[in-house]
Amino acid sequence: MSTNFGYLYNIAGWGEPYFVVNSSGNISVMINGVETTSEEAIDLLAAVKKATEGGLQFPIILRFPDVLKHRLDSLHTAFANAIKYTAYTSYYQGVFPVKVNQNRDVVDKLISLGKDYNFGLEAGSKPELLLAMNSLINGSPKAYLVCNGYKDMDYVSLALVSRNFDLNTIIVLELEDEVDTVVAASKKLNIRPVLGIRARLLTTNPGHFGSTSGKHGKFGLLEDQIYAVAETLKENNMLDCLKLLHFHIGSQIPTTSIIGSAVREATGYYCNLVQMGAPMGTLDVGGGLGIDYDGTRSGESDMSVAYGFEEYASTVVQAARLVCNQKAVAHPVLCSESGRALVSHQSILIYDALVAVEEPSDSLTSDELISRLDDLVGNPTTLHANLKSAVRSRDGSNNDASLVHADQLKKHGVEIFKLSRRLAKQLEAAGEKTFAYHMNLSVFSLTPDFWGIKQLFPIMPIHRLQEKPTQKGTLLDLTCDSDGKVDLFIGGAQTLPLHDVKQSGGGYYIGTFLAGAYQEALGNKHNLFGGPNLVQVESAGSAGGFTVAFVGAGPTAANQLQSMHYDPAEMAKVIADRAKETGHWTETEQTLVTKVFGTMPYLFGEL
Ligand SMILES: *Cc1c(COP(=O)(O)O)cnc(C)c1O
Repeated sequence: MSTNFGYLYNIAGWGEPYFVVNSSGNISVMINGVETTSEEAIDLLAAVKKATEGGLQFPIILRFPDVLKHRLDSLHTAFANAIKYTAYTSYYQGVFPVKVNQNRDVVDKLISLGKDYNFGLEAGSKPELLLAMNSLINGSPKAYLVCNGYKDMDYVSLALVSRNFDLNTIIVLELEDEVDTVVAASKKLNIRPVLGIRARLLTTNPGHFGSTSGKHGKFGLLEDQIYAVAETLKENNMLDCLKLLHFHIGSQIPTTSIIGSAVREATGYYCNLVQMGAPMGTLDVGGGLGIDYDGTRSGESDMSVAYGFEEYASTVVQAARLVCNQKAVAHPVLCSESGRALVSHQSILIYDALVAVEEPSDSLTSDELISRLDDLVGNPTTLHANLKSAVRSRDGSNNDASLVHADQLKKHGVEIFKLSRRLAKQLEAAGEKTFAYHMNLSVFSLTPDFWGIKQLFPIMPIHRLQEKPTQKGTLLDLTCDSDGKVDLFIGGAQTLPLHDVKQSGGGYYIGTFLAGAYQEALGNKHNLFGGPNLVQVESAGSAGGFTVAFVGAGPTAANQLQSMHYDPAEMAKVIADRAKETGHWTETEQTLVTKVFGTMPYLFGEL
């Protein structure tokens, strides 16, 4: 067996069982996880080649509906097993929160694949409600349509009316005032709602994604408010409409112990509502089922969770069972709103390297850097003297002097920090040159969470993995913005081991993995670069092979301009008029202007 350099990117940590390096040194997509046969495995490079043979432009998102199905089935199997082995007497019935990926092919696919599971959708706004209604018309009539988010009269009325269309819509009350809107709309339209309440739990999710959780969180009702809303419903003869308790403590919950506390707390409120006379029936545990982006299974940062589907499901089931049994309340149907965990793996963003440019080496040698650092750190007298005078002037009279000293100290610290970073970088790169890889990509449009909240996604070349990477690189995108680069990778490195682009004989393709959740909906239009081309890759089954279908074009320059309220036709005319005046509106100019309006703003081929 020849060497495979996949370990440099920890692909075994974050990728398995879906992504492995095959004997050609390419990444294979294992569509059925560990059960994938060699015939079913899809060679990612072959899929990219097939997708682009007609000249399709990068960047491209390759979607793998088989992987989506495997995720959906695995989640249901995990709950089914946990329920069986825990002697839980009810069942699991989940929903997909559409904000995580609103794309029609993803949502519709989930609903058709999930029909036998009565799989439903969660909406958080009026357009999302319309989207969910449209998709669920083809779903199971039992599937939940959970309505969260801020609601006005129109939102509530549409949700109510949809029950008349045989959709199983549930309105979740998030604010005390919403109960008045619902009561009024229900009377006006003469439709009885099915209602839920969103609990604001005391259990907090410590990560970045949980910053709105806890007592001072943004959403939901605290325990006393929950019972007050139930009382209001009772006064309006509507307590029989209350059938669900919901909570969501944020995404990417790091450990099962937090999940367990949240479910126990919520189940307590659930049982009290049952004891107040509400029919209830469903406990909706929200999202938060996480993804192990860095593959460490540590649960110690926002990039990692320390559990998989099985541990998640058994934690939820056991916690709900424990509290219900203690309070002698029947076990509720368990619903989760798992988004990230379902759709992250099914899409891979692929882009090509246009050129790699060697970074100018630091003008200071390592020895020089070390001696500078010694001056600052190793000579503590200066530092000490500064510190002493800062402290002295703090309890003395001279406040201004104290500020100046504090400021000097801070600068001193910053200087040490900067130098040590440079040193570390230089030592790390010793012997290997660092290159800036210019990629046909916009970080802002395609992985906005990297730019916005420094979320790291696994990134690696999809081929040449039996060849030792000889260079280190950062990835620069096409936008004219200093933030338009990727210079931090899973594991904390500032560069990625990469191959010499020139030796690739064809393109050099890099993939961003696990980016199927949230990124597409958040993407913006920096420099008017937009979304990617979308391609669907499906396994042809046990016979082997796969099919590639183009499913959506990325926005053209004209589309991007329109979104900023320009009229491309009018613009083309203005340009044509000037060209005619100057006597330059030949066929060449006409073709060129038309082409640039009509194609994606990314670059064709090499620079
Ligand atoms: C965003 C959101 C989710 C999805 O959370 P994931 O962590 O992606 O599973 C679920 N429910 C609500 C209410 C949300 O706002």
